[in-house]
Amino acid sequence: MSGKFYDKGLQFECTGCGRCCTGAPGFVYLSEEDIVNISNFLKMDKMEFVKKYTFTVKIFGENRISLKEKSNYDCIFYRDRRCLIYPARPYQCRSFPFWKNNLKDKEAWLKLGRECPGIGRGRVYSRDEIEKIAYSVPDYKINHFRMFKK
Ligand code: SF4
Ligand code: SF4
Repeated sequence: MSGKFYDKGLQFECTGCGRCCTGAPGFVYLSEEDIVNISNFLKMDKMEFVKKYTFTVKIFGENRISLKEKSNYDCIFYRDRRCLIYPARPYQCRSFPFWKNNLKDKEAWLKLGRECPGIGRGRVYSRDEIEKIAYSVPDYKINHFRMFKK
C-alpha cells in the first residue's frame, strides 16, 4: 500500500452550513439505488420522482440522471437551510468530501477545506474508511438501470 497524505486519517464533521448544496451550478448524480431510496422516502412512484425532480445529463461519454436545481442553483431539495431528503440523500452527498478528486493530493484537500468548514474538525476517518467511501461510487449509467428496461 503506497503512502498517501491521509495515511493517518482525515478529520471531518459536517456543520450543516449548506454550502455544498447551494451556490454555483453543479450535478448531483443518482444511482438506481438512490432513486429507489429517495422515492421510497418521499412515498412517490420511482418514475414520477424521476420526472419531477431530475434531468438527464450527458457527461464522461454516458447518460446520467442528476437532481434538478432551483433558479438560484440551490439543490431542489435544499429548503429552509436543510436537506429535505437527508436520511435518503444520494451517495454523492453522503460520500462528500471523500471523493477521489478531493483526495488526489494534500493541496486539493486543503483547497476544499477553504470551501467546506467541516474539514479539519470532528472525528478522524481512517485511511481504510476514506478509501472505502471514495471507491464505492455506484454505477451512474442510465442504460444499466433495471427500472428503464422493458
Ligand atoms: S460544505 Fe461541508 S460543512 Fe457545509 S454542508 Fe457541505 S459538507 Fe457540510
Ligand atoms: S440532496 Fe440534500 S445533501 Fe444533496 S445536494 Fe441536495 S440538499 Fe444537499
